[in-house]
Amino acid sequence: MDNRKKIAVIGATGSIGTQTLDIIAGHPDIYRATVISAGSKVDRLIELARRHRPQLAVIADTALYARLREALAPLGIETAAGPEALAAAVTRDDVDTVVTATVGYSGLVPTVSAIRAGKDIALANKETLVVAGEYINRLLEDSASKVYPVDSEHSAIYQCLVGEDPASVRRLIITASGGPFRQWARGRIATAKACDALKHPNWSMGAKITVDSATMMNKAFEIIEARWLFGVDASAIEAVVHPQSIIHSMVEFRDGAIKAQLGCPDMKLPIAYALGEAGRLDGVEAPLTLDRLATLTFEKPDYERFPCLTLARHALDRGGNTACIINAANEIAVAAFLRDRIGFYDIYDLIEKSLGHIPFIAEPSFDDYVTTNSETRAYAESLINVN
Ligand code: NAD
Ligand code: MG
Repeated sequence: MDNRKKIAVIGATGSIGTQTLDIIAGHPDIYRATVISAGSKVDRLIELARRHRPQLAVIADTALYARLREALAPLGIETAAGPEALAAAVTRDDVDTVVTATVGYSGLVPTVSAIRAGKDIALANKETLVVAGEYINRLLEDSASKVYPVDSEHSAIYQCLVGEDPASVRRLIITASGGPFRQWARGRIATAKACDALKHPNWSMGAKITVDSATMMNKAFEIIEARWLFGVDASAIEAVVHPQSIIHSMVEFRDGAIKAQLGCPDMKLPIAYALGEAGRLDGVEAPLTLDRLATLTFEKPDYERFPCLTLARHALDRGGNTACIINAANEIAVAAFLRDRIGFYDIYDLIEKSLGHIPFIAEPSFDDYVTTNSETRAYAESLINVN
C-alpha cells in the first residue's frame, strides 16, 4: 500500500509552489504531488507535470485548457480548467494536504473548499486569512482539517508555541526586513518604480508579495494573519524591523521569557515543516553558523514612510469586511504599480479611497466577501483609469 502523503500544490508554478515541489521530489518516500495547478502559466505547468507526474493538472484560465490537455493526455495525466475545477480538485480522495501557494484573493475559494472536505492546509496564501479570517476560523471549528502556516514569521511563532500554554502568551513579535526602501527618505520613496520595489534585500519571492514587502503591506497582512491563526488580540501583536531576516519571529510569554526561531532566509524550512504537520526533516536548510553572524539589529517601523502598516490595526479594530476591502484595493493598486501606471504612495491612497467608498458590513456572509472583493476591485480600477 502507498502510505505516502498526497499533496495538492495550488499555485505550483510560483515561488512557493516550485519550492514545495522540490521538497516533495527530494522525499519521494514520504510525499507525492497528486494535484498541481497554475493561474495562466500553462507551459510551465506542463513542464512541471512532466517532471512530477501528478494525477491531475488544473489551469485556472480556461482559454488555455486545450493546450494543457493535448500536452498531458498522452502521459495519462488528467487535466481540468477554471476556478470551479480547482475548487473541486482539492477535495479529491487522492489529496491529504493542500498547499495554498496561489497569490491574492484567488486562494480563498479553493481553501474554503479544502477545509469543507476536511483536508489539511499548508497555508502560504495569507490573503485567505486577511480577506476572511473570521469566516475561515468558524469553518475550521466544524472540520477535521488543520492549518499549518507556511509564512516564515508564522511558522516561527508556531514553532515557538510548541509545548506552551496558549494562555501564557503575552505578545507576538513579528519581524520585518524593512524591504528595499528601509533607508530611503519619504521623498525618494515617492518616486520609486516597480523595478526598485522588486529588488528585495533578503528574499526572492513572487512580484506581488515583493511589492507588498516594499510598502510593508505584507507586514500588515501578517499581523492580521497572526490574529486569526493564533487567536491573539491585535493589541498584543507587533512588528519590528530586523534587517538581517535571521530571527523569523518571536513570542513573549507572561513570565517575560521571549522565544525566537532563527534561520537563513529560506522558505524551504517553513514549507517542509508545514508539509510534515510540524515535524522535522533532515537538513532542509543550510546550517546557520552563529559565529559568522555579525549582528542582529532591531528598529521601530516608520508608519509615516510606510503608511500601509497602519492598516492592520484599522482592519482588526473595525473588523467585518474591512480587511477584504483593503486586500482587494491593494491587489488592483499593486498590479497597476507593477505596470508603472501609478506611483508608490498611490497604492495607499487607493486603499484609503476604497475604504471610504465601499459599504462597511459588520458581519459578512461568504457572499458578502465575494461582493466586497468584486466591488472594491471595480472601484479601484475606475480610480486608476481616471488618472
Ligand atoms: P507567485 O506569484 O510566485 O506564484 C503565484 C502562483 O499562483 C502561480 O503558480 C500562479 O500561476 C498562481 N495563480 C495566480 N493567479 C491565480 C488565479 N487567479 N487562480 C489560480 N492560480 C493563480 O507567488 P508566491 O511568491 O509564490 O506567493 C504565493 C503566496 O504565498 C502568496 O499569498 C504570498 O503572500 C505567500 N508567501 C510567499 C512567500 C515567498 O517567499 N514567495 C513567503 C511567504 C508567503
Ligand atoms: Mg512572511
